[in-house]
Amino acid sequence: MYENVIQNLKKNNINVIFAENKEKVSSIVEGLLFPGATISSGGSVSLSECGVLDLIKSGKYNYIDRNSNGDGKTSNIFKEILDCDFYFCSSNALTENGELINVDGFCNRISAISFGPKKVVMIVGKNKIVKDAEQGFLRVKRIAAPLNTVRLCLDTPCSKLGHCISLEKSDTPGITEGCASKNRICRNYLISGMQNDSGRITVILVDDCLGY
Ligand code: SF4
Repeated sequence: MYENVIQNLKKNNINVIFAENKEKVSSIVEGLLFPGATISSGGSVSLSECGVLDLIKSGKYNYIDRNSNGDGKTSNIFKEILDCDFYFCSSNALTENGELINVDGFCNRISAISFGPKKVVMIVGKNKIVKDAEQGFLRVKRIAAPLNTVRLCLDTPCSKLGHCISLEKSDTPGITEGCASKNRICRNYLISGMQNDSGRITVILVDDCLGY
């Protein structure tokens, strides 16, 4: 089931480590890190569910908390995060073609994925695998964005409808179609394909469902 996606990630110069279940993820991550490493992370349910957030905040490492200045939107913290050794997050979707699909509102996460941190480690559950980029962006509209707006208590159309408002008009809306809410969390759209810096991004692909 995973052979194709693993091969295609490697073809795109993205490292892949397979984890048989979510309980194995923390020890895999521990093996990638070194004491005192500067680490940060995006907001991610996947990281919490597999224990990685607890590990990177354990005190063994120099964890930079993006919320440490209160509102989570303090630019100096985000500039500091771009200089860290390791950045942890999940991905909104992973295509069979080995592309990582991510959509952000504030864009700190997609900035760090594409530029800055020396290493990016993504914890990706099997529920994130989709056929192609189009399905990946639809996954954001159908699953990731509605559930995240509920989690973050954001008043958006999708937090009430359970799907993006753009799906009210069409089953296949354009990638950037959506609401005009000031709380909109879909603003910038990133497809990470072939990487120049081989091995900068590592995907830990987990044979379990994680996050949304
Ligand atoms: S564009 Fe608006 S309604 Fe659509 S998923 Fe994003 S936040 Fe929700």
